Amino acid sequence: MSAEVFVEAPLPDALVAVAAATKGFLPDDEADALRAVVAAHLRPGGVAVEIGTYCGKSAIHLGHVAREAGATLLTLDHHRGSEEQQPGWEYHDTELVDPEIGAMDTLPFARRALHRAGLEEVVVPIVGRSTTISAFWTTPLDAVFIDGGHTEEAAQADYAGWSPHVRGDGVLVIHDVFPDPADGGQAPFHVYERALADGFAEILHVGSLRALRR
Ligand code: SAH
Ligand code: MG
Repeated sequence: MSAEVFVEAPLPDALVAVAAATKGFLPDDEADALRAVVAAHLRPGGVAVEIGTYCGKSAIHLGHVAREAGATLLTLDHHRGSEEQQPGWEYHDTELVDPEIGAMDTLPFARRALHRAGLEEVVVPIVGRSTTISAFWTTPLDAVFIDGGHTEEAAQADYAGWSPHVRGDGVLVIHDVFPDPADGGQAPFHVYERALADGFAEILHVGSLRALRR
């Protein structure tokens, strides 16, 4: 690991506790790698975008490094859950259903997590569909973390909508990349292959997390 693309970015104990108490899908070793690689690419006044807030677990990790860098994290989600999180599917969590409307709503959980983490000034939740927001996006980004929908359509749209905005020496991070179909869905892996074909090169691989630069 070159010093230039990774920096020490430990999470303070208080935030470790909040992250541990927050629902999500980010193993600790991948969280450590995510912080390290994003911290190395964030500039003061810079912006990182996360696609897929869910309950805010990864946003705590990214929000901490954004605060350390003097940068901002925008975290996007429609907060209605991915396909595999809907009732009857493998990753459904009944606690995340808004009983009044009978649909998932992870936004209150994310807001509580960010409040408990003391990160509300640094992390800006954006509620909406990824493609709706990327369609009018123009600001160059220091880092993009793709961890949203896992259908081929959603994952490819996230890549198409956000990767062009990664600045020349910024970083693109993709989660849930499983080269072997036995380990998981293939859409993020296909996005990873597309990024390589587009001229991105891999700089980090921990578990299902891949970081790339142009
Ligand atoms: N990054 C989170 C986990 C994200 S789970 C963590 O590590 O804790 C994936 C999230 O993507 C879900 O909350 C789902 O609502 C959201 N999502 C799926 N498709 C989306 C889309 N097209 N636009 C915005 N959000 C989407
Ligand atoms: Mg994920």
